[in-house]
Amino acid sequence: MTLLAVAEAGRGILVPDAPVLHADDEGVLRGRAVFETIRVYAGRPFRLEAHLDRLAASAARLGLPPVDRDSLALAVEEALAASGEPDAVLRLLWTPGREGQGPPTGLALVSTLPRGHEEQRRHGIRLAVVPWAPGALIAGAKSTSYAENMAAQDEAGRRDADDALFVGPDGIVLEAPTSNVWWREDRRLLTPSLELPILAGVTRAALLEFVHDLGYGVEEGRFPLTRLLVAHEVFLTSSIREVMPVVAVDGRPIGDGVPGQAAESLQRALRAAAGYPAET
Ligand code: PLP
Repeated sequence: MTLLAVAEAGRGILVPDAPVLHADDEGVLRGRAVFETIRVYAGRPFRLEAHLDRLAASAARLGLPPVDRDSLALAVEEALAASGEPDAVLRLLWTPGREGQGPPTGLALVSTLPRGHEEQRRHGIRLAVVPWAPGALIAGAKSTSYAENMAAQDEAGRRDADDALFVGPDGIVLEAPTSNVWWREDRRLLTPSLELPILAGVTRAALLEFVHDLGYGVEEGRFPLTRLLVAHEVFLTSSIREVMPVVAVDGRPIGDGVPGQAAESLQRALRAAAGYPAET
């Protein structure tokens, strides 16, 4: 991704190449800050309000100063206009400032979309199971302490996979380092419950709104990995990857080993909800 534009809440557009944070910013020193990643479709951020809600909730959970939503929403508009890029990644950062003594800094960053997702969607991706025992604080909050998530993705890469699948010590399926996970058993879709230590994905919530219209039942719960491994299909969901089919886990094919029907129809439905045509 390439950074195209940055705006700071209360300050407006900044030079993308210039440093913005102090060296003793609490977010930099201790990873004590929160962020959001949002897909921009044809100039419109998808479900911005839901992302601002989650940013505010994450900030509260970490004990950060309350998010200044209005200034941040204005910074979003400024950064999007300055970027000149209708299809982009929008990231929000809220950090408490110098050694937590403030003032807090809110940033809106607009970057190019990562390459290769449409290609991956056509072929499906492979996952590697990584044992995961998240701390209670980190689990449901989108904090900048993502080093463990990134390390899990690196481990998956070393094991010839495209991403990790987090499974708890009790064998219960959780999520992926930057996505929620779903699978299909005939006409039924299953996804881990939000009572588990996972992030409440905005894409997950959007899909739950239209799965029934597509003719699928849905069950949220605590499911063992053994159940996922024999599913008819598996897919991940996140703001930037959208609906991404999974064709193998730990080298074993899922279903027929090709992208599945539910992932395809949900991807179309997601794009339709965003008022944006699906790639064909
Ligand atoms: N789970 C984790 C750990 C994430 O970091 C993310 C997004 O970054 C998701 C799930 C998916 O959330 P969303 O659909 O809001 O992008």
